[in-house]
Amino acid sequence: MTQKIVVVGSSNTDMVIKMERLPKPGETLLGGDFIKAAGGKGANQAVAAARLGGQVTFVARVGTDIFGSEAVENFRKDGIDVEHVSVDPDNPSGVALIFVDANGENCIAVASSANNHLSPADVQLATHQIANANVLLMQLEIPLDTVQAAAEIAHKNGVQVILNPAPARELDDELLRYVSIITPNETELELLTGKKVTDAASAESAARVLLDRGVKTVIVTLGAQGAFLLSGDVATMVPSKTISALDTTAAGDAFNGALAFALAQGMPLQEAVHFSNMTGALSATNLGAQPSMPTLEQLQLFMDA
Ligand code: ADP
Repeated sequence: MTQKIVVVGSSNTDMVIKMERLPKPGETLLGGDFIKAAGGKGANQAVAAARLGGQVTFVARVGTDIFGSEAVENFRKDGIDVEHVSVDPDNPSGVALIFVDANGENCIAVASSANNHLSPADVQLATHQIANANVLLMQLEIPLDTVQAAAEIAHKNGVQVILNPAPARELDDELLRYVSIITPNETELELLTGKKVTDAASAESAARVLLDRGVKTVIVTLGAQGAFLLSGDVATMVPSKTISALDTTAAGDAFNGALAFALAQGMPLQEAVHFSNMTGALSATNLGAQPSMPTLEQLQLFMDA
């Protein structure tokens, strides 16, 4: 049986320019290729989980403009339930301006717009879906009180909550105690704990701070190195696969969508982290956020290769 995943989060349209190198302040660089792609951490993660075969409900807010309607149309094509993607009459859809250099490194500016107006009331309307999900997956591109409201509903109903604390923001213990699994990258973990993170050992020491604050499991994504898993007695590095990265913009989103999918299927935690590493790595070999999210079939070919 397909298990249910609810994603509460942002939807943006990404305007991506691929350059030899990133521009410096005040500098104009010519010669990049432009692509427009559907993005936003919430939407990316919803699409990642859906493309792998997950049954996904997305709770989000878009504007009345063409970006919003295109986004919703794309969610439908990926089989995502969009009943709770509301159209905001007063605020435009979210937009992200992204530069990607020849090494796949990026630099991003986001106009959140409608995403900033996704409210606790919007989440309350999706109470039934959240309460009946196997996994609730969220990020931090929407208001924190909205994240808190959804986490509370999930917690009250025994639904596991995965929080990808991106982009980096400080979080209250009140929210953290409702979080089953938190998935920071190095920068986010540093901001959350005040500890420098460079490798598995420093990731473990910082991750322990979050366990002490009430989170049950911490998974630190470490780019090409893979991910560090800390949960109960388990403290282990789960390596990724060696790839030639083209665009790592949404590798973290691919990772989180895959994690929600794998855990909703009942995959054991460490295996789920490996599965998510592979999805993150494969997505980094393709350009664009949602266009780079693989199907289960593509992922299996990549894992076997
Ligand atoms: P974020 O984009 O949030 O900073 P990461 O860069 O840590 O996230 O990437 C998320 C996951 O994607 C990593 O844990 C890893 O599994 C995979 N990944 C990302 N970049 C690479 C890479 N260059 N080689 C292999 N795997 C990668």
